[in-house]
Amino acid sequence: MEKTIFQKIIDREIPASIVYEDDQCIAFEDIDPQAPIHCLVVPKILIVRLREAKDEHQALLGHLLLIAKKVAKMKGVDQSGYRVVINSGKDSGESVPHLHVHVLGGRSLQWPPG
Ligand code: AMP
Repeated sequence: MEKTIFQKIIDREIPASIVYEDDQCIAFEDIDPQAPIHCLVVPKILIVRLREAKDEHQALLGHLLLIAKKVAKMKGVDQSGYRVVINSGKDSGESVPHLHVHVLGGRSLQWPPG
C-alpha cells in the first residue's frame, strides 16, 4: 500500500513544520491553515480513519487527545479556546486517509461548521 502523505512526514521523506513528537505520534503545522493556529496530531501507526479504530487503540486515541491539549498550550490558545476535530469519511471532508486530529484556534470559530 502506498504511504500516506502523513506517513512520509513521519518517515522524514517530506518536510513539515513539526511542533511535537514522541514514540506514538507527531504533531505539525497544517499546510493550509484554516485558523491562525492549525496543527495536526497524527499517530505513527496507520489507523485509516476513526471508523477503522479498534478497541486495541483506546490508549493511543486518548494519547492523541492529550497531545492535542499539549499542542494547544504550546501554541498559546489553551486559555482563549480551541477546537479539536477528527474528520472521518466522505461527508466529513476527510482528505488524507490516515487518522489525524486537527487543533484549531487563534480566532473565534463558528458553529455549526459548514
Ligand atoms: P482532513 O481534510 O481532515 O483529511 O485533513 C487533512 C489536512 O491535512 C488538511 O487540513 C490539509 O491541509 C493537511 N495537509 C495535507 N498535506 C499536508 C502536508 N504535506 N503538510 C501539512 N498538512 C497537510
